[in-house]
Amino acid sequence: MRWSRSLLATLRDDPQEAEIVSHKLMVRAGLIRKLSGGLYTFMPLGLRALHKVSRIVREEMDRAGAQEILMPALQPAELWERSGRLATMGPGMFRLKDRAERLMALGPTHEEVVTELLAGEVSSYRQLPCTVYQIQTKFRDEIRPRFGLMRAKEFIMKDAYSFDTSLEAADVSYQAMFDAYVRIFRRCGLDARPVEADTGDIGGKWSHEFMVLADSGEDGIVDCPACGYAANQERAERADVPAADPECPPPAAVATPGARTIDDLTAFFGCTAERFIKTLIYLADGKPIAALVPGDRDLNEHKLKRLLNVKQLALADEATIENVTGAPVGFAGPVGLAIPVYADRALRGAADRTTGANKADTHLTHVALARDAAISAFDDLVVAGPGDACPRCGKPMQLKRGIEVGHVFKLGTKYTESFEASFLTDKGQSELMVMGCYGIGVTRTLQAVIEQSHDADGIVWPISVAPYAVSLLLLDPKDPTVCAVVDALEQALAARGIDVLVDDREERPGVKFKDADLIGCPIRVVVGAKGLAKGGVEIKLRTSKDVAVVPAERASVAIAEQAAALAAALDT
Ligand code: ATP
Ligand code: MG
Repeated sequence: MRWSRSLLATLRDDPQEAEIVSHKLMVRAGLIRKLSGGLYTFMPLGLRALHKVSRIVREEMDRAGAQEILMPALQPAELWERSGRLATMGPGMFRLKDRAERLMALGPTHEEVVTELLAGEVSSYRQLPCTVYQIQTKFRDEIRPRFGLMRAKEFIMKDAYSFDTSLEAADVSYQAMFDAYVRIFRRCGLDARPVEADTGDIGGKWSHEFMVLADSGEDGIVDCPACGYAANQERAERADVPAADPECPPPAAVATPGARTIDDLTAFFGCTAERFIKTLIYLADGKPIAALVPGDRDLNEHKLKRLLNVKQLALADEATIENVTGAPVGFAGPVGLAIPVYADRALRGAADRTTGANKADTHLTHVALARDAAISAFDDLVVAGPGDACPRCGKPMQLKRGIEVGHVFKLGTKYTESFEASFLTDKGQSELMVMGCYGIGVTRTLQAVIEQSHDADGIVWPISVAPYAVSLLLLDPKDPTVCAVVDALEQALAARGIDVLVDDREERPGVKFKDADLIGCPIRVVVGAKGLAKGGVEIKLRTSKDVAVVPAERASVAIAEQAAALAAALDT
């Protein structure tokens, strides 16, 4: 492609709203343009890179035996009612009505549509296993669309769904997708690692997220350097290390006027936060319960929700708290509370702690939890963090940040039950198909590549997903000899299947060099009158400072060799 005839425009300044480097670079390098919050147009260069990511995804899905289909983005809401998710998806799902007033949804995901489809198509065990996938636009009304393509309202996802005759067979399908994901991200030049993950709204039994480590990542990852355990912070467990406090005298009420928070209390009592027990009142499917965590820890609502096995969990409102504890907010405590109380298991054996007294402006000291309060269950209820003991090996764990680029789930029969998606076994019995689902954020993956691979001058594309393999800088566009060399080189490279962006603009060389670095194609080739007189064409890799000068007639071979070496390094 010739730059002078393209829509390509680079920008010198960062877009105002861009907070992370990959977002800034995507806009500055002319890959995307914003329509409005969470909505972006792919410009020619961005679309080329996106197509390369999609192609890798497609090749690996096909290789893993999945079949490509394409389902409608517009879905009747009735399907979502059947799975029970119309209520639980909440305002994150775009809803609209057709002219007959039928409620519709713009698909945020496709479990409902695909299960309905397979329920109709599959009748016998002979048709299974079956994995289908699509690469398609998804819609989610995100609370905070941001970071460019990372969290958009409309984005492209590859979603795959496996259907099997048994849990064991479903494990095989899951593993095939897991392995395909490892290859996809590696081929994209991404360092993405699988971590254990929460199953969230999609539901199901087990899941892994593929995380690209980056400081700008929205997810916390707790990992153990000693044994390799790694999990999303939403799910991460920690070893059971109960408190072993010595015995203490009976509880004593202490006036603590206005001291509601842990900070207030540490100042008031002059001791560390862990000596306090936080009491949080929740409504679990509408019923009040109390959850206790050490004063220096945060409660993990995912864990509490799993323990209680409820659909809805939310912090109680002020009126409920006053009603349940008999005290204003800030003075709740477990002693004498008439609702079920659940405590983090680090509090098993906790004694001589301070809690709220269920009385205004009052706390209780010398609380021995098991002695003084009725605890329904001790369980792992806090957000795991750095320094916590690994649940596998007991060594201290660390906290990192990551971008979720892919997610694989074992769903079991959650959806096949709702849609009566069954098959006949070899003995003629009817059984439900066992499902898995597998997503890759294709557009997010593209941006994650940039987040992980850039320098101060711009993007550093892995060749597999670069918009063009080669930036060919034509330094003297008015010099016919130089133009002839560039024309011949462009054709020779095209014949070898190497795509080239020719910068033929009437611009100073400095501008072209800067833009080539910003756009970040892996191989930069410079053709100018001076260079040709001195011996040929300059070839330089984006990742290196070394410049090789090659006679013009040998240039296409030399470039092809470089391109092949770069590609081979990614395809191991
Ligand atoms: P997140 O936790 O980041 O909101 P999710 O867990 O809701 O994502 P999934 O339902 O697992 O997302 O979707 C599969 C993949 O789609 C994710 O791994 C991610 O790469 C991508 N994705 C999800 N939401 C968005 C979004 N708003 N914009 C871009 N990509 C997204
Ligand atoms: Mg996910």
